[in-house]
Amino acid sequence: MRIPVNDLKRHFEATRGIIAPAIERVLESGWYVLGGEGQAFEAEFASYCGASACVGLASGTDALELALRAVGITAGSLVATVANAGFYTSTVLLAIGAVPVFVDVERETHLMDPNALAEVVAQGIDAVVVTHLYGRLCNMEVLRSIVSPHNIPLIEDCAQAHGAILAGKRAGTSGNVAAFSFYPTKNLGAIGDGGAIVTNEPSIAKKIRLLRQYGWNPKYHVTVRGARNSRLDELQAAVLLAKLPHLERWNARRREIATRYSKGLRNPKIHSPAIVGNENVAHLYVIVCEDRDSLRTHLAAAGVTSEIHFPVPDYRQAVLATDRSWPVLPVTEWLSERVVTLPCFPELTDHEVDFVISRVNEWQPCIP
Ligand SMILES: *Cc1c(COP(=O)(O)O)cnc(C)c1O
Repeated sequence: MRIPVNDLKRHFEATRGIIAPAIERVLESGWYVLGGEGQAFEAEFASYCGASACVGLASGTDALELALRAVGITAGSLVATVANAGFYTSTVLLAIGAVPVFVDVERETHLMDPNALAEVVAQGIDAVVVTHLYGRLCNMEVLRSIVSPHNIPLIEDCAQAHGAILAGKRAGTSGNVAAFSFYPTKNLGAIGDGGAIVTNEPSIAKKIRLLRQYGWNPKYHVTVRGARNSRLDELQAAVLLAKLPHLERWNARRREIATRYSKGLRNPKIHSPAIVGNENVAHLYVIVCEDRDSLRTHLAAAGVTSEIHFPVPDYRQAVLATDRSWPVLPVTEWLSERVVTLPCFPELTDHEVDFVISRVNEWQPCIP
C-alpha cells in the first residue's frame, strides 16, 4: 500500500467531468484575463462565504499583501501574527517593509492565543493577521473583542479554511478583510496558482481592485502606490466556479476522515485532535508526538507518507535570524518539534485511513 499525504491525480479523476468543459469554454471564448468567468466566480464565492465582495487575485500570498496594504499597512507598521503558519504572512510583511510582532499559540488548537494577542495590543500594533490553521476557525468573537476597542484592523488568513463555519459565520467574514489561496492542494484548489480576498467593506474591495491591476483608475491612469499585476485568470476562475458547488461535500468528507482518525488513534504516545465540527474543514490532520522522526520512519516503511506543517517557527528562519533577536515563543517552539501531518484528502478511502490508524497505533517510540 502507498498512501500519499495528498493526491491531485485522484482529485483530477474525480473532477474531470466538471472541469474539462469549463476549460474548453474559456479556450473557445478568446478572453483569458479579467472577464465573465472571473466576475461569475467572484460573485459566487462572495455569496458562498456570506461576504459582500470577493476580488480574484493571482495567489494567496498576494491576497494577504494587498489586504494589508488596503487597510493602510506600510513600511514600519507593526503587524501581529503567529509564527507557526508557514511564514506566508512574514513573507508579505518583509515585502511591505512592515515588522512582524510574533504572538504565541494555544497548545490544544495551534491557533493564536487571545491572551498573548491582548499583551501585544497593549504595547501598540497596527494590524493583526490571524490564521485559521489546518482548517480550524479561530474564535473570532474573542479576537475581535480584543482589537476593536483600539480600532486595529483584523485580517483573516483563510488559505486553509474555505467554508469553515461557526455560529452561522463562515471563514472570512469576521474581520475587516480575508485572504484565500486556491493553490491546487487547498480545500478549493485551482489547476495552478490563484487567490482572492473577501470583505464586507466596499472601500477595501475597491482599493484591492486598483492594487491588482497596476493602480489603474481608469485604464492607463495610475492613481495608487503599491500596485502590481495580480489577477486570477479566466481558466482558473472557470475551474474554481465549476468546483465550488462541490466544496461542501469535499469538506464533509475531510471531516469524516479526521473524525475516523480521532476515534481510531489510541497510541498513548500520540496526541490527536478532538473530533471536528463544522468550524473545522480538516485541511490538514495534524497529531502531536514525541520522537516524531521514529514515527515517520515507521510510517514510511509501511508506505505511508507524512509531513511536517511547519518545522521552523518564522522567527527562526534564516532570512529573519540576522535581523535582530526575536522573542522565543514557548508553545510555538514545543509544537514545531512535535507536529506530524497524516494523509487527509477527500479521495482517501476508509480502508486507507484504517491502514494508517493501525500503523500509528502499533508504533512504539525508541525513547520510552
Ligand atoms: C497556502 C497558504 C498561503 C499562501 O497561498 P499561496 O496561494 O500559495 O500564495 C498563505 N497562508 C497559508 C496559511 C497557507 O496555507
